[in-house]
Amino acid sequence: MSTTVENVVIVGTGCSGLTAAIYAGRANLNPLVLEGPLPGGQLTTTSEVENFPGFPQGVDGFQLMQNLREQATKFGTRFEQALVTSVDFTSFPRKLIAGDRTILAKSVIISTGASPRMTGVPGEKELYGGKGVTTCATCDGAFYRKMDVAVIGGGDSAAEEALFLTRFASKVYLVHRRDTLRASKIMADRATSHEKIVPVWDSVPTAVVGVEQGAVSGLAIKNVKTGAESVLPVKGVFVAIGHLPNTAPFASALDVDENGYFVPTAGSQVKTKVPGVYVAGDCADHVYRQAITAAGMGCQAAIEAERWLAEHGA
Ligand code: NAP
Repeated sequence: MSTTVENVVIVGTGCSGLTAAIYAGRANLNPLVLEGPLPGGQLTTTSEVENFPGFPQGVDGFQLMQNLREQATKFGTRFEQALVTSVDFTSFPRKLIAGDRTILAKSVIISTGASPRMTGVPGEKELYGGKGVTTCATCDGAFYRKMDVAVIGGGDSAAEEALFLTRFASKVYLVHRRDTLRASKIMADRATSHEKIVPVWDSVPTAVVGVEQGAVSGLAIKNVKTGAESVLPVKGVFVAIGHLPNTAPFASALDVDENGYFVPTAGSQVKTKVPGVYVAGDCADHVYRQAITAAGMGCQAAIEAERWLAEHGA
């Protein structure tokens, strides 16, 4: 076990984690950022971000995260690859366990984000990753040039994925379990009025077809109102039905709600019941879930950590 005790360890490299790193770095705290399986977080899998203040022409999600990382590095942030699997917050310094490593920290900012939710229908898991089932149109859309694809979901993500896919695919079925989209009006209108997007209302997937061939050849669906079953002849299935917070390694040490999201202490967005331990971003926010709100929480967490360290002479 290393005996080095870090001032502040930030877990996660999404918008909230990197913003926390910029603030902690500028406060001379020499932050250590632990990088998980998706460096840069969810924004690296999105295309154009049109609503991040300061970019009137929009900004590429991957580029935005590169910029934040560069900015954090400029102020002394160190990055290390480490997947935190459990923690011990009962003693001080706090302990973060990542494989066979134990990292000691005076303060901790958890900004682990959220991961895509899957439908769990037969064939989805078997054909995930390179075989036709994916959660990222930006990453995989170009593989479906002149093909028909299906997007599952009715939120902003589903609308955004469907619209992005129109750049490549011939036809995009938008399969939603109700008859109105949950997406914001502007996104819903754009999606439903697009000539390549075919909404498939009141329908749920029942299976992804093609397991025997090792590649998607269709999406079996069922109309929840009529019970009618059919198969959409698609080569790609894009699952966009929301996210699950990445809080499991910390759930026994901190308060989480019934969906696994961190619950900050009353009167704060980022403080937890453990002094010096803060949460920020999508792992603690199931309401707003925006890049700018995640960044704002990262800023708050870093300022709180800085104050806590100063008050406790740490
Ligand atoms: P979301 O808003 O939670 O929408 C999830 C969608 O998936 C809903 O339409 C839901 O149906 C459907 N769904 C959930 N479980 C399902 C299942 N098992 N089978 C079939 N359908 C299922 O998630 P999101 O679209 O990822 O958006 C998350 C947040 O990020 C939102 O606040 C959104 O506004 C924001 N966001 C913003 C942008 C943007 O502004 N550009 C882009 C992406 C996301 P029901 O509608 O019936 O519940």
